[in-house]
Amino acid sequence: KNIGLNEIRKEFFDFFKEKNHLILPSFSLVPKDDKSLLLINAGMAPMKPYFTGLKTPPGKRVVTCQKCVRTVDIENVGKTDRHGTFFEMLGNFSFGDYFKEDAIKWAWEFITERMEVSKELIWVSIYKDDEEAYKIWNEKINVPEDRIVRLDKEDNFWELELGPCGPCSEIYIDRGEEYGCGKPDCKPGCECDRYVEVWNLVFSQYDKDENGNYNLLPKPNIDTGMGLERMAMVMENAKNIFEVKQINEVLKEVERVSKVSYGKDSEKDKSIRVITDHARAITFMVSDGILPSNEGRGYVLRRLIRRASRHGKLLNIQGKFLSKIAEKVIELWKEQYPEIEKEKNRIFRIIDGEEEKFYETINQGLEILDQYISDMRSENKNILDGKKAFKLYDTYGFPFDLTKEILKERGYTADEIQFNREMEEQRERARSARGGSENNIWGTGDFSLKIDGDKTVFKGYETFTSPGVV
Ligand code: ATP
Ligand code: MG
Ligand code: MG
Ligand code: MG
Repeated sequence: KNIGLNEIRKEFFDFFKEKNHLILPSFSLVPKDDKSLLLINAGMAPMKPYFTGLKTPPGKRVVTCQKCVRTVDIENVGKTDRHGTFFEMLGNFSFGDYFKEDAIKWAWEFITERMEVSKELIWVSIYKDDEEAYKIWNEKINVPEDRIVRLDKEDNFWELELGPCGPCSEIYIDRGEEYGCGKPDCKPGCECDRYVEVWNLVFSQYDKDENGNYNLLPKPNIDTGMGLERMAMVMENAKNIFEVKQINEVLKEVERVSKVSYGKDSEKDKSIRVITDHARAITFMVSDGILPSNEGRGYVLRRLIRRASRHGKLLNIQGKFLSKIAEKVIELWKEQYPEIEKEKNRIFRIIDGEEEKFYETINQGLEILDQYISDMRSENKNILDGKKAFKLYDTYGFPFDLTKEILKERGYTADEIQFNREMEEQRERARSARGGSENNIWGTGDFSLKIDGDKTVFKGYETFTSPGVV
């Protein structure tokens, strides 16, 4: 069945409405009253208070399509077929109502009867000790034993530090050998793109206490997440999520703006995919009220804008271009998300402003770094003085990770130890002088973002590989 994003979303809602679920609109990307999370990264995240009992849900059965941002996947974007920093997650939820058997039965029904995916292509994973789930899949649904994979805690047990938690069961679709890594033990759980995880069913049946005990909940919950783009990729038989029709419209806009055609050069293709993804993330983040800044989610936004912008430079786009791509995103998603249309002008203004700032920084920094490199060449050195690297960062706001990356591309490195020493001294000075480095747009402090727990560490340029810029 060849259906796209909008049809799948609608069928999902219709299906769970028939099963007496209440349809709720997507929550904002900005978490409410939740200090543990920088950005909403799953359908269940904004519903935590319903699971913990802090708030009463508007219904015992709920279905949503949630906007999500996952910066932990930034390295994968453009590289794997299935990851975006932005995506939509469909999910059905039970707050102390139905449990494992219904959740599994309905997921199977939706995939095989509504989506008409052929049963032979479906694999499932269970948490290794979850015999109950095994029995349901094997005996009630008739999934053969050799298509049920047992995964351990890391993959198939969902928990936070405290509170509701439990085993998961995932649904994978086999896209065929041509997408596989070819290893003999390739199966669901493998890093390659053959078996695509489309749906994760979480059975929160325990309540974890301060002593680390898992106490059975009297009324267990269900929380599921299905990646809309991934499902569309499977249904449309697209090579990757960027070739899903509606997302591909954004990609085509990147082609038009850059005058680079997709499918000719793998590095350029990656840049095109990164811009396509980031433009979506940026548009939705700004519409939810996030502004570029040097900390928290504003910093994530800043990094995404600048990263997209730099990939634009790699495609030889002259001047700012991102708001053009954002315009396309708005045109394509405004029906489902009216907030992006409403915030249109603000979105353009904020993206333009940030891109301009970035160009000023980059152009100046690149010139200086070029000079440093030619000095090194004539002096026969291959390590850039840490003081110089620091000056680039501190005085010109040029990201250190970008310095390292450009040096590496040309066969040089930077003296990182000395750089860090300079950084520490600078911090000392700033501490005594109070706010001495306000003019540095990258702020003082770490390059990686260590705010609100380790789940949201944003590595930005550290993880950003590309060919030379100049
Ligand atoms: P993967 O193992 O492929 O990274 P995951 O196990 O991290 O996925 P979950 O946390 O279980 O994903 O999220 C539920 C569903 O959301 C996944 O089954 C997938 O369909 C979708 N999903 C997760 N991460 C992404 C992403 N970065 N881009 C698009 N869809 C995603
Ligand atoms: Mg993941
Ligand atoms: Mg997974
Ligand atoms: Mg999963």
